Amino acid sequence: MRNFDAPFLVIWELTQACDLACVHCRACAIEKRCPSELTTEEGFRLLDEIRSFGDPLMVFTGGDPLKRPDMLPLLQRSVGLGLRNTVTSSATPLLTERAIEGFRECGVARMAISLDGPDAASHDGFRRVDGSFARTMFALEYARKIGLPSQVNTTVTRHNLGRLDEPAQLVQCFGAKLWSVFFLVATGRASASEDLTAGEYEEVFRFLYDLSKTIPFDLKTTEAQHYRRYVAQRRKADGNGDAVRQAMPEVIRRQAGINDGKGFVFVSHLGEIYPSGFLPLAAGNVRRDSLTAVNRESPLFRTLRDADRL
Ligand code: SF4
Repeated sequence: MRNFDAPFLVIWELTQACDLACVHCRACAIEKRCPSELTTEEGFRLLDEIRSFGDPLMVFTGGDPLKRPDMLPLLQRSVGLGLRNTVTSSATPLLTERAIEGFRECGVARMAISLDGPDAASHDGFRRVDGSFARTMFALEYARKIGLPSQVNTTVTRHNLGRLDEPAQLVQCFGAKLWSVFFLVATGRASASEDLTAGEYEEVFRFLYDLSKTIPFDLKTTEAQHYRRYVAQRRKADGNGDAVRQAMPEVIRRQAGINDGKGFVFVSHLGEIYPSGFLPLAAGNVRRDSLTAVNRESPLFRTLRDADRL
């Protein structure tokens, strides 16, 4: 049985400030930074402790991380510690050529950016700021030009249902390494009315599974635990039943059924320790608690890892 005492993935929400206003925003992002955000020094200490987990994948997210003037020193510290880092930026005027070059120069492994529709009308309508689609296209093109690997994040809602093949084509056009497909969790500004029906989930899973066999980039789902069940059923139906378990990580790009609090830990802009950004229940705060101890011992995290209680 796999040991989840150390997470595979650590996400730090550097700030909730962001100049976009997305319909579904988990963070309920606002324009200005909160004065109580973790300071630069607290961020350095947090990164040191994250490194003590071993070799987790580190994601710098927000809000928009570029709203913090100390973002590059924080990224440099993380790279210097030997962590593998992804930075998730918002497509705003802050995401300039210089900013993207800064990611590459300080050794970020990957820049992630959101794309929720294949054109300005669909994407900007969802992000609620005109020009966001054009900035996304610019950022992906510029990252490709300077050799910075990119990742595209897409949230599946009723808004883009039936059009997912179009963002997938853009992922391929820009040479992105990973298409990360998020399924809606009705937290923050997200409304359950935007979510899919059970039948629509199955349709999207069918599309993703079929697509995964043909694409040159990796495809990963988030908050779609039932995709594992779908993949198992399809492989069995395809006559590959014996290979289902062994091949699962290869198909879904997840090492071991990572779930909230199970291989995954999220630190909020105020230092609260959540099982994930989509489950904002604080099991501690890095200002007073050890992140490694909370992840290993807190009743909330331990309960979430107890499959018998599902
Ligand atoms: S880009 Fe991200 S943080 Fe900014 S409003 Fe949209 S979902 Fe929220």
